[in-house]
Amino acid sequence: MNLDKSAQHFEEAKTYFPGGVNSPVRAFKSVQGTPVFVKKGKGSKFWDEDGNEFIDFCCSWGPLILGHAHDSILKHVNEAVANGTSFGTPTVLENKLGKLIIDNNRFIEKIRFVSSGTEAVMSAIRLARGYTNRNKIIKFEGCYHGHSDALLVSAGSGLVTLGNSSSAGVPDSVVSETIVLPLNNKEAVKQAFEQYKNEIACVIIEPIPANNGLLLQTNDFLGYLREVCTQEGTLLMFDEVISGFRVGFEGAAGLYNIQPDLISYGKIIGGGFPVGAYASSAKIMDMVAPLGPVYQAGTLSGNPVAMAAGFAQLTECLKPNFYQNLDEKTDYFVEKIKAVIADKNLPFTIYHQGSIFWFAFTKDNVVREASSIDAATMPTFGKLYHKLLTKGMYLGPSGYEVGFVSEAHSLEDLDKAAAIFSESLLEVFEA
Ligand code: PLP
Repeated sequence: MNLDKSAQHFEEAKTYFPGGVNSPVRAFKSVQGTPVFVKKGKGSKFWDEDGNEFIDFCCSWGPLILGHAHDSILKHVNEAVANGTSFGTPTVLENKLGKLIIDNNRFIEKIRFVSSGTEAVMSAIRLARGYTNRNKIIKFEGCYHGHSDALLVSAGSGLVTLGNSSSAGVPDSVVSETIVLPLNNKEAVKQAFEQYKNEIACVIIEPIPANNGLLLQTNDFLGYLREVCTQEGTLLMFDEVISGFRVGFEGAAGLYNIQPDLISYGKIIGGGFPVGAYASSAKIMDMVAPLGPVYQAGTLSGNPVAMAAGFAQLTECLKPNFYQNLDEKTDYFVEKIKAVIADKNLPFTIYHQGSIFWFAFTKDNVVREASSIDAATMPTFGKLYHKLLTKGMYLGPSGYEVGFVSEAHSLEDLDKAAAIFSESLLEVFEA
């Protein structure tokens, strides 16, 4: 595969942007090589500047549940753009998207639109602190919640630890309010609540942790979090930036049937445009400005073009059997790969939940904690990655990233991708 033009564009980009990119994982640092400069996408595929075709399973890191350039999204966006792109005053498009979401989600009563997942989580944490009058938050090792200061933390060495800053520029005074616990560990949660009695504003978790592999949690653990938060007067926050509208219209809250106090959304909600949101009961949301004392604002929040895209996308998601079809397609794809793994007895496992999938060079059927992922296997992932890429299958360029199946993936695409995957996998193990 010729990636010469991408390589040239990347060299030029390095002169403008740190590392040549505007978001770090795009730089291919963990798999080495040249990022693909995409020229256009349609449906399940995109084409790069060198004219190569890829079946895309990154789907812009999750937002594109309908695939690229979906007709209805284009129609709604074009109509909105023709009327002007931003007004800084309310539009009916915000009402339309707000109503569509709230009418079809039993877990929220009011929502606030912002412009990214990071902004949604950051604002929701401020709200949790404002509502409870407490400062500390609990997060879990292996969950990513965007790049706001309070959440750029990693665990120290102990079961219950105050966070260590995981980025230069994040003051210790900020991360010292964040407690970091291992996933799937009730004892750690119990100890944290004992140690910081009446100090914890909220527990934030990706209910389907999908930023560090796919670390599926049990209903039992998530239910325990619900229970303990209610007991302790702490808000339970589900960060559904990936799982929201992905594992069902009601996201993981609906899947596990657990009522969180706060939910953050992003990705799918904006139909491929920059939208995030946080949502809760009317009582909690009415603490936000202008009604309440918790300040949060945004020049482009509720942007009409983005609202139109989100409305178009979520309208498709609400069509009968949308999620059932998506899940069945993903099963079909995953089962094909599983058959090859089983046939050759490879130390390799593929995990999935709905249309989210991830694989690891291990035989462990269950991986629930970040510490269970073997970093030493990542160079092997890099080898597999480049074989897949050169055969025309595009995944996020890191072994810690999940893949997504979209509505646009046809059975033919999935047959082809499963064949590419199986062939590449065998090549890696035979090498
Ligand atoms: N929360 C979760 C669970 C995410 O996966 C992400 C991004 O991947 C974020 C928050 C941050 O969202 P954004 O990249 O839109 O700022």
